Amino acid sequence: MDSPPRSSVIIIGAGISGVSAGKVLAENGIKDMVILEASDRIGGRIRKDNFGGVSVELGAGWIAGVGGKESNPVWELASQSGLRTCFSDYSNARYNIYDRSGKIFPSGVAADSYKKAVDLAIENLKSLEANLVGELIEPPSSPKTPIELAIDFILHDFEMAEVEPISTYVDFGEREFLVADERGYEHLLYKMAENFLFTSEGKILDNRLKLNKMQSYLVAVKID
Ligand SMILES: Cc1cc2nc3c(=O)[nH]c(=O)nc-3n(C[C@H](O)[C@H](O)[C@H](O)COP(=O)(O)OP(=O)(O)OC[C@H]3O[C@@H](n4cnc5c(N)ncnc54)[C@H](O)[C@@H]3O)c2cc1C
Repeated sequence: MDSPPRSSVIIIGAGISGVSAGKVLAENGIKDMVILEASDRIGGRIRKDNFGGVSVELGAGWIAGVGGKESNPVWELASQSGLRTCFSDYSNARYNIYDRSGKIFPSGVAADSYKKAVDLAIENLKSLEANLVGELIEPPSSPKTPIELAIDFILHDFEMAEVEPISTYVDFGEREFLVADERGYEHLLYKMAENFLFTSEGKILDNRLKLNKMQSYLVAVKID
């Protein structure tokens, strides 16, 4: 009986990491790879769906980190694949805060409260960090009023759920571009895959890509 064909490299997952790993390997002459993907598509957390007749992104929607000292590889890929993007100009962005009756808080009050809450949270974080070792810390009280809820959402869930400094912005720049392309952010993945996998009419037909294949055990890699 013929032994099954062997591959030098197994890539687990066909998200942007897996697909770009495959591309880099192929560019360096390693073609006998296999990509195992648990789902029925490539893209992972980059995916779109149809909503009310238009294409909407369910996962990644922005290319963050553009215009800095180093060139962002995702931005380069987007340019190469002709992905349509538009600059996200936050300079005029404004958040409205409403009370439970739907009445808008005057922007001055909201901005003032927001600034106070941000300053306070930063001070609290700094002192928490300073005193953390070995001490029992009282958990912060949960937000109660609408304005506290809104501030808590923006401050903790939206703004501070990342550690500073964020290397994407430091290395690649502060600008962000929204992907505004009917083909979806995932178009970039397909263009990247085209470089090393066999495709026809926009479909990947290369048998080195194994969809619906969950890798559930550890793989030992032998390097000669
Ligand atoms: C809602 C949302 C919004 C986001 N917004 C942005 C944004 O605006 N800008 C941005 O840059 N990033 C954003 N991100 C993050 C970005 O999508 C991810 O960082 C990126 O897609 C991760 O790519 P990845 O290839 O590393 O992992 P994934 O995309 O998670 O791909 C991993 C793949 O591996 C497969 N897999 C996992 N385990 C196995 C297994 N055992 N065997 C086989 N296959 C397996 C999975 O099915 C998946 O396809 C967002 C993410 C989400 C969820």
